[in-house]
Amino acid sequence: MSAIDLHTHTTASDGTFTPTQLVEHAREKNLEAVAITDHDTTSGIDEAIAAGALLGLEVISGIELTTEWRGNDIHILGYGIDADSMILRDALLRLVAQRSVRNEAIAEKMRHNGIQIDVKSLAMRFPDAIIGRPHFARVLVEQGIAENISDAFFRFLGNGCAFYVPREHLSFQNAIGLIRASGGVAVIAHPLQYHFSDDILDALVAEGVSCGASGIEVHYTGYTMEQQERLSDYAQRYRLISTGGSDFHGANKPDIELAVGTGALHVPKRCLHALKSLIAAR
Ligand code: AMP
Ligand code: ZN
Ligand code: FE
Ligand code: FE
Repeated sequence: MSAIDLHTHTTASDGTFTPTQLVEHAREKNLEAVAITDHDTTSGIDEAIAAGALLGLEVISGIELTTEWRGNDIHILGYGIDADSMILRDALLRLVAQRSVRNEAIAEKMRHNGIQIDVKSLAMRFPDAIIGRPHFARVLVEQGIAENISDAFFRFLGNGCAFYVPREHLSFQNAIGLIRASGGVAVIAHPLQYHFSDDILDALVAEGVSCGASGIEVHYTGYTMEQQERLSDYAQRYRLISTGGSDFHGANKPDIELAVGTGALHVPKRCLHALKSLIAAR
């Protein structure tokens, strides 16, 4: 029985598998299709598509944008986007530029506290990555200042901590518009990760729909059958397609395996079919 996974991360963002390695891994696991959805970048897509063509595995181009809605971080998945779209590239380049300003500010705070850190050498160590807090967290662990990555976030890099610097976000509305303008299909990612009440989640979905979102991620690592049914209800009520994926990050989320998540995940194949018809209609 072949499976699918519509939510994965590579070394182009914060995963540990290169795009080629991820596609090879998907092949070994007998997957039929995989979508690459790196955070705020499309830089892994071409390589993944080439690997998929070589191995006979379908690769869907994707992205996961971090957006802001009513003061919350909301993730939006974009599928079938044209990675060469100028409007998308401009927006992503702007995010990178904002990040480098922020990274310097984080490094400055760390140096102020006696920590040796240089953003340029960090960028040289992780040439394919968009440098962000996870990389600073690694340095804190390596220098023995934090015990592990979550400790680094809990004590130093998390919201309100000594080395925390907020970053600019796309608005939820603009992110959906951006995905559509670059030829993609917008899907609200892991809707239960925001811990909203029914009313607030309903407001989020309604606003997503009014901005042009077409889907909702119903099947996700750790979601119970009841939770998936609750999300299917939203899909039906708002005439959205259902999608699903594991949020695979390789060794950065070691409990999560492609397609099956922590073991119980199953993304129905109809999710792929529905997604592909929407992409084809764009
Ligand atoms: P940034 O975009 O630079 O603000 O970093 C956000 C990323 O840091 C997220 O995508 C997570 O991968 C990671 N992250 C955030 N909070 C934590 C945490 N408490 N423990 C480990 N990783 C985290
Ligand atoms: Zn991630
Ligand atoms: Fe996410
Ligand atoms: Fe993700």
